[in-house]
Order: sequence, then C-alpha cells, then structure tokens
Amino acid sequence: MKRNFRKNAALVLVIVFFAFTLASCSISAEKDTAVTLEAQRAQFEQSTQNRRLDEVDGVMPASEVSTDGGLMISADYPEVEANESVKAELAQYVDSEKNAFREEAESMGEPSEDTGLYNFTLTYKPYVAGEILSVKFTENSYTGRTDKKNYVNSFVYDLTSGARIGLADVFDAGQDYLTPLSATVRDYLSRNGMVSSHMDEQAFNNGTAPNEQNYSNFALTGDGKIVFFFNEGAVAAKEAGAVEVCVPLSEFEGVLNENALPLLTGEGGDAGLTKMAADEAYPDEGYADVVANAQTGADDAGGAVMDSSNPAGPGDLDVPQLHIEGNFIEPQSLDGIDPLNDKVIAFTFDDGPSAYTDKLLDCLRDNGAKATFFIVGERVSSYPESLKRAYDEGHEIANHSWDHPSPFMDLSKDQQLQQYSKTNDAIEAVIGKRTAIDRPPGGSMTEERAAEIGREQILWSVDTLDWKLRKEDNGVDLIYNAIMDSEDGAKDGSIILLHDLHEKSVDAAIRAIPELKEQGYKFVTISQMMQIAKARGKDVSAYLFGSNTVSKPQ
Ligand code: ZN
Repeated sequence: MKRNFRKNAALVLVIVFFAFTLASCSISAEKDTAVTLEAQRAQFEQSTQNRRLDEVDGVMPASEVSTDGGLMISADYPEVEANESVKAELAQYVDSEKNAFREEAESMGEPSEDTGLYNFTLTYKPYVAGEILSVKFTENSYTGRTDKKNYVNSFVYDLTSGARIGLADVFDAGQDYLTPLSATVRDYLSRNGMVSSHMDEQAFNNGTAPNEQNYSNFALTGDGKIVFFFNEGAVAAKEAGAVEVCVPLSEFEGVLNENALPLLTGEGGDAGLTKMAADEAYPDEGYADVVANAQTGADDAGGAVMDSSNPAGPGDLDVPQLHIEGNFIEPQSLDGIDPLNDKVIAFTFDDGPSAYTDKLLDCLRDNGAKATFFIVGERVSSYPESLKRAYDEGHEIANHSWDHPSPFMDLSKDQQLQQYSKTNDAIEAVIGKRTAIDRPPGGSMTEERAAEIGREQILWSVDTLDWKLRKEDNGVDLIYNAIMDSEDGAKDGSIILLHDLHEKSVDAAIRAIPELKEQGYKFVTISQMMQIAKARGKDVSAYLFGSNTVSKPQ
C-alpha cells in the first residue's frame, strides 16, 4: 500500500527550534499592542473551557461562568459529598470572594480599553490525607483597582466531624511548635530557587517568623507531607510570585499533635475519601489555568544558555549547539547507537511525574530502554522520588511548564520563560540539574516565539491521542494500537507523544515497548534523537519543523 505522505505531513508536528538558526525572526520586537475588550472577552471565555481540576473521590468538581454586566467571572469549586457543612462553608467562601470582586469592579465604572476587562477566576486543588480534606483555592482577579495574582487561600477539614483544622490541631498546641516550624520552613524555602533568586530579606524574615498567621495557609497531603502556601511578596520579592513549600511531617517529630495523626492516615474512620489517581487531570488539549504570575525580566529566563560562548546571536550558526554550560543536564551521548543504521524511537512522556511513573520506569529498566520525561513543575513536590529515579536511571528530564497553562501562546514570552524557569527550579531542587529542553503545553508555540525564548521547543511526530483514547473502556488497546500503527505509529526516527499521568497510557507503553524492542528498535532520548538527525544529514531546523520523522538519507 502506498503511503499517504501528505496525510502524514499534515498530522505530524515535530518542531525543534534553534534560536540561532532563525535569524530572520530575531529582529522582531515585542509587539504587545492593546488588545480589544472583545478579544479579551473571547480569550477569557476560551480560558474557562476544559479547565483542569484534580479529582478525588467524594468531591465533585463544579464550575460556573458568568459574563453578566461585562464582568468576567469563572469559579470552580468542590462539592464535598461526604460532609454537608464543609460543602456549605466552601460554597460560602466562593460566594464571598465573587461578591467582593463584583462590588469593587462595579464601583470602578465601565471597563475601557485602557483599564482592560475586569475579571475573576477562582480554581481549586483538593488534597486528601485519610479523613482530612484540604482545599487550596487560587484566585486571579482584576477589578481595575485590585490585581490579585495566584492568590492562595486554603481550608483544611476533618470530614468525619466537619470541623475546620488549624495549625494548632496539626501541631502539639501544648508546646512551642512555631519556633521549630519556622526554622524548618526557612530551611526549605531557602533551597527554593524562586525564593533565593528573588531574595528580600525583610520579607523573608517577617513572612517566616514564628507566628501562626504566617503558616495559616496550608494543606495536608496523602503521603505524609504538609504544604505551606505563601502569597506574592510574603516571603520573597514580588517577582517570585506565589511560593509553596512541601515538608514531610516527619521533620516535625516531637511537636506534632499525636491525636491528629490517625486521621491523617485514615485510621480514624472512613469518610469515603480515597485519593483517586490523577487520571482525570491534564487533558492535553485546550484547558486553561490562569497563570498570571508576576512578570519577570529577561534575567529570569531559566538560564537557558545553550552556548554562552557564542554571544554573536542568531544567524551565525547553522547547527544546533548541543553543548550546554552551567548547571544544565548534558545532552546524552550516542554511545552504543549507530545513528545511521540503528532503528531508533524516542518515547516521550508528558504531564508527570505521577503515581504511574514508577511502573513505567520498571518497564523501561527491564527493556534497557531510555525515554524522555517532560515534567510539569507543580507535580514535582508530589512525586520527587519518581523524578529522581527517572534521572538516576538515565532517562532524559525535560520541561513541560509549571502548571500547564493553555493555550500556552496566550502567555507573554516572559510568562512562558517564568513557567519554564520555575519548573527548572523544582527539577533542580530534586536532581541538582536544570534542563534546557522544553515542550510547550499542548504544543502551542510559534517559530518566532521559540526563537525569542532561545531554548529547544520540542514537539512530536506521533500523536497517540492517548489523553482522549484513555476515556474509552478499551483505552489501553486503542493507545497501544496508535503506537503500533503501521502508517501513523512508531517508526524509525519517531518521537512518540504519551502521558505518564494516565494509567492507560503507561499500560499501553508497557505493552508496546517490549514488542518494539523485539522488532529491533533502540529507544533514545530527545537529545540523542537530535544528534541522530544531524548525523543523518538533516538540517535540523528545517527538517524537524513541519516534517514528520527522522528518516534516513535517501
Ligand atoms: Zn501536556
């Protein structure tokens, strides 16, 4: 059967951008022309579609959107089935925030193109630890007077009683727990790259001083950790944005409330809450998180220096610079791989790490296979061991933004850089290295922007559509078939897109990998695939942009 190359070309989206090769694009200055109110409204409405909400059993996600009176309001809130009073309290909080926004915005008069539209977005994230439910609300709003960016407010409840849990319930209120708490959090925070690179000693000292107010915003996780949230400017300069720090409760041995611990491990009863795998999170299409993090200057570019020895800028180079200076992960060598004659495939896994990453790592190890993991920064604190293990076992670690905002191109260049930079901080905190390889969420990227960013923006050649197929009962079969498809699936030179966030994707990969190995394929990482492409005589920028695979020279 004749292959349909036209179809392949249309389906396939592999882009590797190298800033330096795109001389014509580098001249373009930022063109942030005023956006019309109508465009802002359309953008807001789009951003409310397909929003990602982590799900846990017993908590139904609910959403409302209203654009009455020219005020853009989008609120997500958890309907807690296990406890009516908790459900009511959380609903009351959502209402009060919404109303406060509405009142202030209405008092500001009609929005104009100068003021921009007034808008309010509230999202939440649930955490379950035994019988304890924590809810972190994040608000982004703008009334014309007040501009809240990633403003966090958290609530913690004992679902058996419906009682609100405070710091003095988690810790032993009979002794001074605040002093050791402060010392430990300071220690953790000072290792956070965003905090250290935006250090404001006064804010740091005040914001982490041993008083209850400083630590009132927290959540308890199912794996025995406590997360503290600090709003913009609270513990670092504003440019650091909102900061969170995740500390194992074991760090506080001796000052914890022993009576509360059984609740945390679920030994105190059963309110019907179990952590559901994040299987519903991160559909890789069009969902949006508001990422109105603080704007940062160009110095916050994530240190994306591909070759700092060449300051000449774009246009002088026609090959990718694989040498990376600084505390970056080195490109992997081609030892043991014949770039011209071996059949190679690059498996890439996005949106993790997750609870399924480990079984995928087992499979990769058992098959001597390497893969590339495009990490979502905000997930690192939940699964640091899996990230560490992936790195230690020789897989490539790459960057998939902090919280997967979509469409990614709605963000400014600086916001995108901040996304990558913050994730690099999280990755560096776990493995001691940063990554210079990115994949924009949803593949949303332009050639021009990639050139401005100056880091590889890697897409894929085989889109398994696993995020969609996993919703089918036979999702594993369907995803497996997509990987193995003789037309559009894996072949020599493919870069395969999968998500280790989803169990069915992982199970399908676990089935496909030994079979592809049997067929003689070698499994390579993205940095290896880039070198292989070069060895195969391809002009990297030309051949990966809009082309499908790394085919051998004719
Ligand atoms: Zn993704």
